[in-house]
Amino acid sequence: MIQFWGKYKQIVLQNCTDPQLSETELDYWRNILFATAVLYILPLSFIAIVPGMYMAYNTGLYTLFVADILVLLILVMIALYPGLTVSMRKLLFCFGLYLVSSALLYSLGSFGPGLLYLLGSTFFITLIFEKKIAWWSVYLNIVICSIFGFMIYYETIDSIIIQEYRADSWFAVSANLIFLSIIAVLLVPHLFEGLHSAFKKRDQLQDELISKQRDLEESLELVEDKNRELEQFAYTASHDLKEPLRMIQGFMDLLKRNYDSVLDSRAQKYIHFAMDGANRMGNLIDDLLEYSRVGRVHNEKEEINLNEMVKSLVSDDFLFTDEAKPIVHINNLPVITGVPVTLNMLFKNLISNAVKYQKENNRPEITITAEEEGRFWHFSVSDNGIGIGEEYFDSVFVLFKRLHTTDEYPGSGMGLAICKKIVEQHGGNIWVESEPGQGSTFYFTIEKGEQT
Ligand code: ADP
Repeated sequence: MIQFWGKYKQIVLQNCTDPQLSETELDYWRNILFATAVLYILPLSFIAIVPGMYMAYNTGLYTLFVADILVLLILVMIALYPGLTVSMRKLLFCFGLYLVSSALLYSLGSFGPGLLYLLGSTFFITLIFEKKIAWWSVYLNIVICSIFGFMIYYETIDSIIIQEYRADSWFAVSANLIFLSIIAVLLVPHLFEGLHSAFKKRDQLQDELISKQRDLEESLELVEDKNRELEQFAYTASHDLKEPLRMIQGFMDLLKRNYDSVLDSRAQKYIHFAMDGANRMGNLIDDLLEYSRVGRVHNEKEEINLNEMVKSLVSDDFLFTDEAKPIVHINNLPVITGVPVTLNMLFKNLISNAVKYQKENNRPEITITAEEEGRFWHFSVSDNGIGIGEEYFDSVFVLFKRLHTTDEYPGSGMGLAICKKIVEQHGGNIWVESEPGQGSTFYFTIEKGEQT
């Protein structure tokens, strides 16, 4: 049964719709409505037409009986006969409706369902045709009502029902029918057009959204390409710069060693400045290389015990260069999945900054904490150092940004930019909160990811 219904539905939809039309066209939806109407009316008409035929035949209403048979045949043809265009099917459908309503009017008069069918015809026409054509159903109603009016007035036809009616009562009834037909023709297309423009607007917005999304994806790809290019450039440039720098350093060293006795103190000072500059440049190139390696070379993730890693880090020599050994509190750090080399670099940069940016004669005190929050681990590294002004909270993470001269505090201005890149490599964020003179706290998040 289900299979039969499926096949029948497929045939009706194929016959009564136009595959050329797109979903955005109003005619597409009119056809769908028409096809759906035919789909259900044909089987349901057995409920209305067959008993009607039986009754008409038994009571001698042969006009109605013939009209019922014709309408049934027309419906079968519209639904199942393949050689017709959609417009022809629609016209046949309207013809059938008018045929049955006229036969009902003729046989049963205004108390029968004739007027109801006439009004129903108008509604169907407004649904399946455009507004211009829908008006024709009003004209047709006027013509049919007038013809019946004349027939009643002049008693031209020998029909019992027609003879029973008076022309003025017919006029009142048909005037109401025409009134309702006009209302239908005015309102239904209006509703359709409103829906259509709403759909059109929605499609337009959807198209705009898709094109904006595409633009965004393209820009993102472009930015990623440029980033890769920049990283490659930073790597190549810094790598190539190392060689001539090594030569400068080597010859300066030779100059200092071999001509120490013949050079006066001023020349020695110049050599010292030149070597100092070359050394700083060397550090800068090393940092730049490190920066370009994050995510490009160092990207193998594995399980890391941060407690162990940070503890071994703070016991390293680089923290003992100051007179006072820093006090470090490590608050139960977790085991996470990440890139060991870069995470080590991240903690090393933050801890060494906390030690470096200190007030004179102040013993550095550093606290490192971690908390679990949803998909992320939240870390903080706080110190009791010189602090950072609020206006620099963002810019300190920019490549080469320094707030001090190298005489005040040595550095390349790359440490925090490297930290930012490492944190982003781990799907997180980094930011700072600080009170100048009181100390700073660097916060960062690391996405938990899959535990290995
Ligand atoms: P560098 O330390 O090589 O200058 P960074 O990128 O590590 O470069 O730091 C950028 C700037 O941020 C530093 O010049 C410094 O002024 C400031 N800064 C970084 N860490 C701290 C800190 N813990 N306390 C105060 N200032 C800091």
